[in-house]
Amino acid sequence: MTLANDYAGLTDAARAFLNGRKMLFIDGEWQAPAAGRYAPIVDPSHGGAVTEAALADAGDVDRAVRAARRAFVEGPWPAMRPHQREAVMLRLAELIDAETETLAQIETVSSGKLIQNTRLFDAQFSVHTLRYMAGWATKIAGKTMELSVPYMPGTRFSGFTRLQPLGVVAGIMPWNVPLCEAVWKLAPVLATGCTIVLKPAEQTPLTTLRLAELCIAAGIPPGVVNVVTGTGAEAGAALVAHPDVDKINFTGSTAVGRSIAAAAAPRFKKYNLELGGKSPVVVAADADLDAAIPGAAWAILGNHGQNCCAGSRLYVHRSVFDRVVDGIAAIADSLVIGPGLDPASTLGPLVSAAHRDRVLGYIERGVADGASLLYGGTPVDDPGSYMRPALLVGARQEDAVVQEEIFGPVLVAFPFDDMDDALALANASGFGLGASIWSRDFATISDFVDRVQAGTVWINNHNTLDLSLPFGGWKQSGVGHELGEEGLYAHLAVKAGVVRH
Ligand code: NAD
Repeated sequence: MTLANDYAGLTDAARAFLNGRKMLFIDGEWQAPAAGRYAPIVDPSHGGAVTEAALADAGDVDRAVRAARRAFVEGPWPAMRPHQREAVMLRLAELIDAETETLAQIETVSSGKLIQNTRLFDAQFSVHTLRYMAGWATKIAGKTMELSVPYMPGTRFSGFTRLQPLGVVAGIMPWNVPLCEAVWKLAPVLATGCTIVLKPAEQTPLTTLRLAELCIAAGIPPGVVNVVTGTGAEAGAALVAHPDVDKINFTGSTAVGRSIAAAAAPRFKKYNLELGGKSPVVVAADADLDAAIPGAAWAILGNHGQNCCAGSRLYVHRSVFDRVVDGIAAIADSLVIGPGLDPASTLGPLVSAAHRDRVLGYIERGVADGASLLYGGTPVDDPGSYMRPALLVGARQEDAVVQEEIFGPVLVAFPFDDMDDALALANASGFGLGASIWSRDFATISDFVDRVQAGTVWINNHNTLDLSLPFGGWKQSGVGHELGEEGLYAHLAVKAGVVRH
């Protein structure tokens, strides 16, 4: 095992956190998994384990859910007023802000993500998400209304709605933006007065565990925030199936999302599913290519292609196709491939060797199906899970490399002749998470925004998220939204009231 002491430049707090195996966080304290099982946490930049995290079983999950239920029903949490919840949320944001470097380093060590990204996105976006949702805690409001009740003439009624917290939430996260995803699940829970059991991805549980400690330090009562680590098949499935879970907020693959919807059906548990994507990037003939070329390149290279809304399908007007693909290949060629902790790196390792090999397998399959590799697509000879990004041309729309989510730095590019073709190609996917249009023409943009089938559309940018903007997928990319007002209201149950005067 690589000890945290072997890394240069870690903060003392990151070093201290990484040293020693990680247990479950239940009811405000570290609890050992009943079966005593742990799994290694691997740094993909060198392929060695840095620590271990508990593998929860159904019994551990039950303890966590029961703690969350107690905190929801009996603890001080339900009695706290909205302004008090707002205050603890703001305190938690301050603690994360103060620990930005430590959290960023821990995240980079277990995920391979670039340190500049884990600082700016994972840590800082989490701070801002908490502040944004803290503001909502005091603004949750129902309605009052005059009622008609036409079948009871002569009696006057008025009505009202109250919005009440849904209860115990299961938050299940993927490994690509671990801390952010945990906070996107946690923040609306805290703002609305729900409680939560978080289940991070098996590869990247560390920052979620540190977040749980910070929740206690911020004054959130024990049991409100619990973390169970372990596999999806065991811990995740037990959490989803638990009868005392009222809502599931899941981010991950479409295949697992489908199984969660089925598991939620018998009790009609509420759910949000933020799933996979195969997002199109459309470059019109009149686009500002100085912006569109780097924009399209980073749409797929950002986070090493491990983004749910990565721009993995590129459609370019035939008149500028060669210029755009050559420009993207040049950017890919200029990348500095290296460990995420090295600030000079511009492309880190994929999350694991197994995932890198899966991505390489897709490239092989694409070539076997008839596509040509215009750039890269090869592994780097290193114990870390590095690869050169791949740019493929000449694939058919029905090929796996075009239709399936690869979740790595693999771009398939196609020329088109008119915008109707481009829209038809952009929409020829089972997914509908994001899409971008690069053009200077208002009519082209407006038509694209109208007709593209995607939960988010970006105009002359790609993959820009914000706290206030609801994020969710169409088609097989999901159900419901996170972030924004929609993300908050997804944690509230509507109770209607009738007053007889
Ligand atoms: P995954 O679906 O394999 O796992 C996601 C989480 O679900 C993990 O915590 C895993 O342990 C858990 N899980 C697995 N099987 C489960 C089961 N049967 N029951 C309950 N939980 C289970 O996804 P991943 O490989 O970790 O992440 C990559 C995927 O996440 C990609 O498809 C990506 O597009 C998607 N993603 C979507 C968004 C979005 O907002 N739409 C954001 C980030 C990632």
